[in-house]
Parts: sequence; C-alpha cells; structure tokens
Amino acid sequence: MKGSKCRCSYATTSHRRICPRCGKKMKPSEWPDEGKVLSFTRLQAIPEGLKDPYNLALVAIENGPKLICWTSGTLKEDDSVTIVEQKGNVFCGPKGEPTSELKAPVKA
Ligand SMILES: [Zn+2]
Repeated sequence: MKGSKCRCSYATTSHRRICPRCGKKMKPSEWPDEGKVLSFTRLQAIPEGLKDPYNLALVAIENGPKLICWTSGTLKEDDSVTIVEQKGNVFCGPKGEPTSELKAPVKA
C-alpha cells in the first residue's frame, strides 16, 4: 500500500507532499498490507455503497499509519489482519485469509 511519511513520524496512506502536522516535505513510502486491530465497531446499518452489513476496525500498520477498515468479520483488539484497498475503500480481515475474500461487498 502506497503512502507518505514525514520525519516527525506522521504517516498516511494517501499521497501528500506536505506534512499536515509540521508543514515539512513528506517522503513517498510503501506500507505493508497488514496490521493490528486497535479497536472494533459493530455497525447496525448497512453503509452506503456496500451490500452487506459491514463492521469497522481501526488498524495500525507497524511503524506506519492507522487506518479505518471495513470488515465483514468479527475482530478483536490485537488481532493481526491483512489490508486490501478497493476503489478507495479499505477492507481488512484475519491474517491468512485469502484477500479475495476481503473485498467484493461494493454494490454493482
Ligand atoms: Zn511532519
């Protein structure tokens, strides 16, 4: 997953030239597609654009940014997850699960 990082330790998965925290120039960076769950939220409603109920996990990439990811599964804090990006949405699921299983809930 591509992103940017700054010397001040600010990190993001979007492409940014200027750090929003300290105003210095950021460097392009590549993050691993896996991380650890910091928190998990079960949603009651189906989010717009998705066809199944999806839950939200806040995932931290080691030495990298924190991401909000959709997940079809139930996760708990400290779970290791694989992260997949699809059409601007970020999905995650238990590490080891085929990544094709993680995507796909976007409405046709
Ligand atoms: Zn910075």
